[in-house]
Amino acid sequence: MRLLLIAPPGAGKGTQAKAVSAHYGIDTISTGELLRREVAAGTRLGLSVREYLDRGDLVPDPLMRDLVTAAVQEADRRGGFLLDGYPRTLAQAEEGRRWAREQAMPVDAAIYLEVSPPELLRRLLGRSGAEGRSDDREATIRHRLEVFETTTRPLLDLYRELGILLTVDGEQSVEAVTADILAGLSSGS
Ligand code: AMP
Repeated sequence: MRLLLIAPPGAGKGTQAKAVSAHYGIDTISTGELLRREVAAGTRLGLSVREYLDRGDLVPDPLMRDLVTAAVQEADRRGGFLLDGYPRTLAQAEEGRRWAREQAMPVDAAIYLEVSPPELLRRLLGRSGAEGRSDDREATIRHRLEVFETTTRPLLDLYRELGILLTVDGEQSVEAVTADILAGLSSGS
């Protein structure tokens, strides 16, 4: 099983990623977590991406490529993956498709968690400070939401055209969202 999870900040991406991966026995690859780990460890990559994370900007595509490729290859050998937070730009999506074709690793579905902007803002401001993230100040939160709208949202059209988009109402309970994702995946809709 190879899955992509696309959702704005605050939509419950991390929680759903874990639940769905556990169900299929596949790895969750969270690019945000991988990047935060690099920053915490003070690696060369961590030092170059730190300011992007702090500002709520996307890390440049070339810096993402190697990080994601290595993690995906390893997870795929173990039976599949759920990519949480990648791709986030059309360039990443195109590159990912090219790469998947070369490696004969077709993606089964792109899951979109739909949550209205006012609800996202409410959730993000509510948890602000609780997770110790450097990007959860109000101005940065608003910026991350804008980045999703302008840069990531266009990916939904691409996956819809490819016939692999699964849209799920992300404003339900955590359990109901997981159930809808699993039902959608098993029916292939
Ligand atoms: P997340 O934990 O998914 O909200 O990601 C946190 C931050 O990591 C984002 O605001 C970006 O700065 C960076 N990031 C995560 N995934 C990507 C990606 N696919 N492309 C560029 N930057 C990313």
